Amino acid sequence: MVLLDRSKDIFEEASTLMPRGVNTAPRFFKPHPIYSQRAKGAHIWDVDGNDYIDHHLGHSAVILGHQFPKVIDAINRALEVGLSTGVESRLPLDLAKKMHQIIPCAENVSLATSGTEAVTLALHVSRACSKKKKIIKMEGHFHGRHDDMLVSCFAAGGSATKPIPHVDSAGVVAEERRRNVLVVPFNDTEALEKVVKAHKKEVAALIMEPVAFNNGCVLPKEGYLASVREITEDNDVILIFDEIISGFRVRPGGMGEYYNVKPDLATFGKPMANGYSISALVGRKDLFQVLAPGGSAYFGGTFNANQVSVAAAIACLDELSSGTVQEHLSKLTRRLVDGFSRIASKLHIRMTLPALGGQFAFYFTDREVTNFREAKRAGGGEDFFRLQHNLLERGFYFHRSPTYHNGISFSHTEEDIDHLLQALESSLKETMR
Ligand code: PMP
Repeated sequence: MVLLDRSKDIFEEASTLMPRGVNTAPRFFKPHPIYSQRAKGAHIWDVDGNDYIDHHLGHSAVILGHQFPKVIDAINRALEVGLSTGVESRLPLDLAKKMHQIIPCAENVSLATSGTEAVTLALHVSRACSKKKKIIKMEGHFHGRHDDMLVSCFAAGGSATKPIPHVDSAGVVAEERRRNVLVVPFNDTEALEKVVKAHKKEVAALIMEPVAFNNGCVLPKEGYLASVREITEDNDVILIFDEIISGFRVRPGGMGEYYNVKPDLATFGKPMANGYSISALVGRKDLFQVLAPGGSAYFGGTFNANQVSVAAAIACLDELSSGTVQEHLSKLTRRLVDGFSRIASKLHIRMTLPALGGQFAFYFTDREVTNFREAKRAGGGEDFFRLQHNLLERGFYFHRSPTYHNGISFSHTEEDIDHLLQALESSLKETMR
């Protein structure tokens, strides 16, 4: 049995100062989370000295593996020059040029520090340019902590074909969200078309994850993203792809490149700097004109384009732009998916492991999952918690949320995947007993 005494001690002390001992709500799990000591490659060690293969990977930010040498070297060089915030340098330009080169819709680029900030910027640009107020979002898609985006992320309102906004967080002025946010089901072209047509004069933008990794791994149906593009374009609605998780994983240019659909704006973050805090809004040059200082939409942030994160991002994108990382991720993903389906039939369990670009989920159903409500039903509840616990006991660290976006990094090997498959087989035997 894995001993977690030191983690328990830190948790108890941390809980006296920080809610449930964590700084991001989903990091908490019962009876207490693990606390890390260090990480390298595909491994993470906790303060009790337990060594895990990491499939959480910093909320899907660590795409290359922990302490990836080229990224660390770039950070060290930036530190020697001096951490500057407050004066621009050459580095952000180099990064913007790189993004412009590899992301088809990136005519312009603005750098921020978190996904929430990039999404906030996207919404401000959309509203300022269109002079319209309403935003359409997909049920279950998560876009960070902007007040308008804490709607229908974790719970559903209304019916499956006609959802209504569910405000997910206290502290958000609910009436305003109900007025200004419209919710539609993912993968349902008809429902989207109806809502867009009924509200087109008031709708500034549609924001969505092109692949719904916040519901595990829900893929767009064939042709769906192209239809979304057509409907938004025909009705003068700005299309925002939130690629904070999905960016760079399958193609250097993101899911926009992979599915050959060009959004007006797109947000990137997490894997962009292999775990260092940076995000970007990219998109149409004419829309960017609205941003300050030239335009009237405020844009600013003390830590925007700080040298360390920008240096990390340039080194990371250098690695991500050749396609080698994506090839490795896709090879390991295939190995995992094939191995898992062999295990599921051998054990006669109704489960699937959908995956793309090194991100994967466990669904406790053998049916195809096409949207948030189906994903939620397939989450497994207690079965999933038992599976996560059994995997932790065998040295594999998974986030303790059903339908979470688990990951594989460039540092994982075929042997790591084979060990995971062995662990899954024995864990599932215990879980499903
Ligand atoms: N968009 C998506 C798709 C996300 O998954 C997240 C975070 N999980 C965010 C935005 C917000 O990013 P951050 O936590 O960096 O603010």
